[in-house]
Amino acid sequence: MLDLTFEAPKPKVISGAQHDWELVIGLEVHAQVATKAKLFSGASTQFGAEPNSNVAFVDAGMPGMLPVINEGCVALAVKTGLGLKAEIHLKSAFDRKNYFYPDLPQGYQISQLYHPIVGEGEVIVDMAPGVARRVRIERIHLEQDAGKSIHDMDPTMSFVDLNRTGVALMEIVSRPDIRGPEEAAAFVVKLRQIMRYLGTCDGNMQNGNLRADVNVSVCRPGDYEKYMETQDFSHLGTRCEIKNMNSMRFIQQAIEVEARRQIAIIEDGGKVVQETRLYDVEKGETRSMRSKEEAHDYRYFPCPDLLPLEIEQGFVDDIAASLPELPDEKKARFVRDFGMTEYDASVLTADVENAVYFEQVAQGRDGKLAANWVINELFGRLKKDDLGISDSPVSPDQLGGIITLISSGDISGKIGKDLFEIVYTEGGDPAEIVEQKGMKQVNDTGAIEAAVDQIIADNPAQVEKAKVNPKLAGWFVGQVMKATGGKANPASVNQIVAAKLGL
Ligand code: ADP
Ligand code: MG
Repeated sequence: MLDLTFEAPKPKVISGAQHDWELVIGLEVHAQVATKAKLFSGASTQFGAEPNSNVAFVDAGMPGMLPVINEGCVALAVKTGLGLKAEIHLKSAFDRKNYFYPDLPQGYQISQLYHPIVGEGEVIVDMAPGVARRVRIERIHLEQDAGKSIHDMDPTMSFVDLNRTGVALMEIVSRPDIRGPEEAAAFVVKLRQIMRYLGTCDGNMQNGNLRADVNVSVCRPGDYEKYMETQDFSHLGTRCEIKNMNSMRFIQQAIEVEARRQIAIIEDGGKVVQETRLYDVEKGETRSMRSKEEAHDYRYFPCPDLLPLEIEQGFVDDIAASLPELPDEKKARFVRDFGMTEYDASVLTADVENAVYFEQVAQGRDGKLAANWVINELFGRLKKDDLGISDSPVSPDQLGGIITLISSGDISGKIGKDLFEIVYTEGGDPAEIVEQKGMKQVNDTGAIEAAVDQIIADNPAQVEKAKVNPKLAGWFVGQVMKATGGKANPASVNQIVAAKLGL
């Protein structure tokens, strides 16, 4: 593991008209479980399918249909729990959360209120290289997603698409340990990263794969410490919950805007009302959706259609044994084994696909050089074309081939960049391209000497100046490189120029 300094919570402080205020934030993240079938039916979870084409009778709430638990979803929830170093509950149970909504044909959502499958865990949130914050996880429970009502397709009718209905979600609930907007975003980033490493959630926020309800309250300096000491929530302010956020940027904006709204109310002598709010992106404000008084009474009760969920320790142990290397461990290993900076290791491990790609390139090669090429050349070039690593026109083998040619001195780093561009746009085997196009570095000192002699002979005035001002040797080096089409070995050129000029 890396040596991390755990920062004492550094809350964001907002100055109101009268006092300073600190932010307290807790997140409820809904992560779609990466299984092919739904939580209680065999219907597909494929995104973007024809509306209502992935709906089993039980998803549609047809009378007499019974849910059957998908073992794959259970396994991925357990895996997520293990990845967050959380307690796994061998016994959990499903409850019905009753409410009416057109996109919820059963008339209730099956969830786990009283006995979630996963208990307390943690997320180590990276704030800066070497600096981290620990955010406690309270629980993870499994539940069904709802469908989607569509109101903008017809002037007089609304439609409903039940493809999402019954898709498995993990609701991951944090303790109110998050102290500012950036930290909230960093928390979601880290959670997403871990789940993508585990393969338990794709984390595609645009597709609604990962959404967060953001709870925000404000308190006076010192109050949070009292809460931490006692775990007594009465030391904290009343919170509001901002529903369904699916962008890191909007999460941050909404937190700040909501905190300022609460501060203004309190300083005005009013009281914050606990309620559910929506963030209006256009107006940059949060708006009340429903207050606690009009909150649904969900009449939770144990789902009579499902037996309590019991799993065996062996099932958990097997999953534990199959856990992949997680981001923090991988980052530490990259720093240790490849001698790269922690910053570079963070970049390369940010996404599991990047890490896999890099390791293939670095296999049997100079790790630092490989890191440099992947981060600066490849990522830079992909970004220019708005491509992800999985769409890279250059394979790890091809990039590795280029690096091998540089390390062996067959080509210079500069020619390497030209070669990279050729491979990127035209494809092909780097070694063959170098042969065909005559890109090999000139290491032949005889040839380099001849080129240097020629330049010296052609430029007697420059030679005189260089003898007085040795910095001008650089000009000769440049001329030789130009004359050799950039192929001369730069180290040899430097040496020979210096010797010939008598510097
Ligand atoms: P509920 O059951 O009403 O949803 P929870 O106890 O489950 O309430 O809390 C929901 C979320 O709100 C959790 O993420 C928790 O950390 C967060 N939370 C609780 N109290 C506060 C507070 N005072 N300020 C900010 N977030 C809070
Ligand atoms: Mg809750």
